Amino acid sequence: MGNGIVKNLRFLWDCVLQVIYSTDENCVLCGQDLFGEGFMCNDCEERIRFCEDAFQVERHGTSFNCYSISYYSGGMMELVLMLKYKSNFRAGETIANYMIKRIEKEKIEFDAVTYIPMSKKSLKKRGYNQSKYLAKTIGDALNKPLVSYLCKIKDTKDQIGLSGNERWNNVQESFDVIDKINVKNKNILLVDDVITTGATAFSCADQLMKKGAKKITILTAAKSKV
Ligand SMILES: [Zn+2]
Repeated sequence: MGNGIVKNLRFLWDCVLQVIYSTDENCVLCGQDLFGEGFMCNDCEERIRFCEDAFQVERHGTSFNCYSISYYSGGMMELVLMLKYKSNFRAGETIANYMIKRIEKEKIEFDAVTYIPMSKKSLKKRGYNQSKYLAKTIGDALNKPLVSYLCKIKDTKDQIGLSGNERWNNVQESFDVIDKINVKNKNILLVDDVITTGATAFSCADQLMKKGAKKITILTAAKSKV
């Protein structure tokens, strides 16, 4: 009888230990054991082609500073696809951590963080907005409010498969600033998963500026060629 109680206590104690020490100790991409901090092993991190330089997204004499963590290939492409299509939020957290480090390194200052909105139809289909998830994780970590400034007013065609100019035309007048929200004099960080021509991010940043924002900085997980 005593033995049973001991076994029971032992079981409960193991449960307690499991709760205390249960961390995800496998690489988010390849699954191999990790011995230390982070979400990714060195082999997988080496498959990310980091993109160190800031660049400008420019149209008709207006331009915005943009930072991308890496090129849209290898490890980063896998992370983005896992977040976007497999609801893998650990992949999302991995990406957001790179973004947070970049904000700190570049000393990017902002009052609030926002994201590229999805149409209601797309949101219903996916269930979440991956860019909003990244923006929220960044805001939480850096103590900045996440504000949904923008809405998508036109259900545009998917940008995939369109040429550079077609992309610019496709997103024209697709986004607007939500009426009641005051953006006046705000310095805003605009987050997206992948930037290609920059047409979408530009369109959103431009709308925010037209409604009185002071400054917009664009930050994306990856940068892709058309
Ligand atoms: Zn790995």
